[in-house]
Amino acid sequence: MTPDQFNGAVLEWFDRHGRHDLPWQAEKTAYFTWISEVMLQQTQVKTVIPYFQRFVTRFPTVHDLAAAEQDEVLHLWTGLGYYARARNLHKTARIVSQELNGEFPQTVEGMEALPGIGRSTAGAIVSISTGRRAAILDGNVKRVLARFYAVEGWPGTPAVMKELWAWAERNTPQHRVGDYTQAMMDLGATLCTRSKPSCLLCPLQTHCQARTLNLTDRLPSPRPRKTLPVKHTMMLLIQNDAGETLLQQRPPSGIWGGLWSLPEVADLRDAASTLGLELDLAATEVLEPVRHTFSHYHLDITPARVVSKDPTNSVMEGLSALWYNVEQPANIGLAAPVKRLLERYAS
Ligand code: SF4
Repeated sequence: MTPDQFNGAVLEWFDRHGRHDLPWQAEKTAYFTWISEVMLQQTQVKTVIPYFQRFVTRFPTVHDLAAAEQDEVLHLWTGLGYYARARNLHKTARIVSQELNGEFPQTVEGMEALPGIGRSTAGAIVSISTGRRAAILDGNVKRVLARFYAVEGWPGTPAVMKELWAWAERNTPQHRVGDYTQAMMDLGATLCTRSKPSCLLCPLQTHCQARTLNLTDRLPSPRPRKTLPVKHTMMLLIQNDAGETLLQQRPPSGIWGGLWSLPEVADLRDAASTLGLELDLAATEVLEPVRHTFSHYHLDITPARVVSKDPTNSVMEGLSALWYNVEQPANIGLAAPVKRLLERYAS
């Protein structure tokens, strides 16, 4: 298939079967496109929709987002995971609002220079919001191209990535490039799915090598398997007389950076001195462990319920901490397993 035949078939399919009523398609501005694209990284459309709506209702412009406290941004992100995305979103909003007069760059290179925006996200934002020709290669598009051209090898390796980018660049049209970007994402998400792709409905079926060679279940090649290491921690659900639970803010960078979490200790006996609270350790109740899996390790969390005997409820000076009431939750960002533990045990 020539590039024009490829993108022509994809656009024709998009006109009839693509998604045209997603909330971020109402205004194809760089701001809306950027928020949606960052939310859509590693997350499915149906999960993103309510988050996107809440986010842009609260922050209708990049200036509103730039002016917000990071805690509130993380709060509205709670549950979407990969919190570095939210912190970068906030940093980028401040740069665009304060240094670029509220205007997003109009080129891929300019977009890529902003925190948290890679080449594919930059291509999507530029093509959709400006109509300028720019290619994308997100997870969906990688799958379509790896299958269509029968590209062997895990797409995370530089050589495979380079080949897929070359195909992506080659097939991107000069006109209707924003529609083509959306069309390729839709095709990957709705037809060329990870398992059991709907090849009989696909506009590329007659020339697709994976379909012809019966390779759809082998391509794209999976990431080479490796066993994830397991780390352990103990999280304390320390409760005061009012039934509130003590939370501590994590350092700004690293795992769950800037989010609020339960205090963690290696040894329960150190808890009182670390936090500067008087605790009734004899009444500690150790609860069932839960596992949280990051991309590079499993974290096995043993929760323990501890009662504070401290009449003042004031923790050691210098610790960023608060008492959290699950019935009247504060607007703060919570790490996902912490949110689940609070819902399960703190009410
Ligand atoms: S024919 Fe099947 S495998 Fe090939 S691109 Fe279409 S849906 Fe994917």
